[in-house]
Amino acid sequence: MGKCMIIGCGGVASVAIHKCCQNSDVFEGIMIASRTKSKCDALKEKLQPTTKTVIETAQVNADNVDELIALIESYKPDVVLNLALPYQDLTIMDACLATKTHYVDTANYEPLDTAKFEYKWQWAYREKFEQAGITALLGSGFDPGVTGVFSAYAMKHQFDEINYIDILDCNGGDHGYPFATNFNPEINIREVSAKGSYIEDGKWVETEPMEIKRVYNFKGVGEKDMYLLHHEELESLALNIKGIKRIRFFMTFGQSYLTHLKCLENVGMTSIEPIMYEGKEIVPLQFLKAVLPDPASLGPRTVGKTNIGCIFRGKKDGKDKNYYLYNICDHQECYREVGSQAISYTTGVPAMIGAMMIMTGTWKKPGVYNIEEFDPDPFLEALNKWGLPWEEDFNPTLVD
Ligand code: NDP
Repeated sequence: MGKCMIIGCGGVASVAIHKCCQNSDVFEGIMIASRTKSKCDALKEKLQPTTKTVIETAQVNADNVDELIALIESYKPDVVLNLALPYQDLTIMDACLATKTHYVDTANYEPLDTAKFEYKWQWAYREKFEQAGITALLGSGFDPGVTGVFSAYAMKHQFDEINYIDILDCNGGDHGYPFATNFNPEINIREVSAKGSYIEDGKWVETEPMEIKRVYNFKGVGEKDMYLLHHEELESLALNIKGIKRIRFFMTFGQSYLTHLKCLENVGMTSIEPIMYEGKEIVPLQFLKAVLPDPASLGPRTVGKTNIGCIFRGKKDGKDKNYYLYNICDHQECYREVGSQAISYTTGVPAMIGAMMIMTGTWKKPGVYNIEEFDPDPFLEALNKWGLPWEEDFNPTLVD
C-alpha cells in the first residue's frame, strides 16, 4: 500500500520496524535511516528473510534539514515516522514540509538546553502543514499516544463530558540492575527530575519533583508507589477533551531507582549544563547515559508487566460516571516476539499504527494534530490486532 521512512534505530524504532514487517500488506517498503547505519543494517539482516516488506537502510543526520530532504526525495516515502529523539522533531518536520510528506512522531519537540515538554513549537507549524496539504500526527506512542486515543474513545462512547482524567503509568518490570532507565536515559532522567505539574481549572499547578505520591493496586502487577509528574499530553488533552476540570499523570518508581536518582542529582550528574572536563566540554547527563546500561540490553533480563491507562470521571445522561481503560503488557512476551522489553513495545506498536492510519488514509486531515483529535475507533481496533489489547473497568478504584 505504501512506503514509510523510519528515522532512528533505537529501542522504540526496533519494535516499530518489527511491526511494520509483520504488516507488509500496508508497509510494502520501509527505509530505516539513522545516525549509526550499522544498527539499521543489522536489523535489516535479521528481518528481511522473514517479511515481504522491502527494507532499505541509510545513514542520516536528522539535525540537518538538507540531508533529510535529499533522502526523502530519493526514497519518496508516503510517511516519515520520527523515532529519533525529541531534539530532531523540528528539522524532520521542516524536511517533511519541503517534500510534502506526512509526519508522525511519539514525543514533543525539546530544545537541547531546556526541558519544557510543551507543544508550542510544533503547533506553530499548523498553518504551514495545512497549506502544504500534509498531516503531522503528534505523539503516537503510548503516553502520549494510546492515552490520547483512550481519552477520545471515552469521550466518544462513554461520556457527555469528562471532568477528571488520571493517567497511570505503571512499570512492574524488574531488570535486576540497581539503576537503569527503560528508555533513552537522557530523555527519561530529564522527564523525572523536572518539577511535577498538573492542570486544574485551566491552569498549570506546579509541584516539586516527586512531591505528590500515591499508592495504587494495579491489575496484573499489584500495589505500587506512584508519583505525579509533568507529562506532555496533559497540555493537549486539557484543550481537546470537553469539560476537563483536572488532569494528572502518575508514574510508578521503585525506591532503589529514586534513591539512585537523588544521589546522581545531588552530585550534579543529571545536569544538562555543559562543563569542562580535561579540556573538553561534556554534558554530565550525556556522560551518565554513556555509563548506564543501554535500554535495548534490558530486554532479555526484564520480567514482570506494565499496566498503563486512564481513569476518567465525568457525566453521562446527567449521572456521574467512572471509567478506566488500560493495557497490560508482559515484558518477557514482548521479548520473545520482537526482542525488546515492554516499554519499547508499548511505544513502538502505536507508532506503527499511527503511521498506518496516515498511510492508509484512515486518518486524513491536513495540519498538525495531536492524536486525540482523530477518530479513536480504528486505532483501538488496531491495538487489539497488533499486540496491545485493552481492558475496561466500570468501577475502578479512584486516586484521591
Ligand atoms: P534510543 O536512544 O534508543 O534511540 C534513538 C535513536 O535515534 C538512535 O538510533 C539514535 O542513533 C537516533 N538518533 C539520535 N540522534 C539522531 C540524529 N541526529 N540523526 C539521526 N538519528 C539520530 O531512544 P528510544 O528508542 O528509547 O526513544 C525514541 C523516541 O521515543 C524518543 O523521542 C522518546 O522520547 C520517545 N518515547 C516515547 C514514548 C511514548 O510513550 N510516547 C515512550 C518512550 C520513548 P544512534 O543509534 O546513533 O544513537
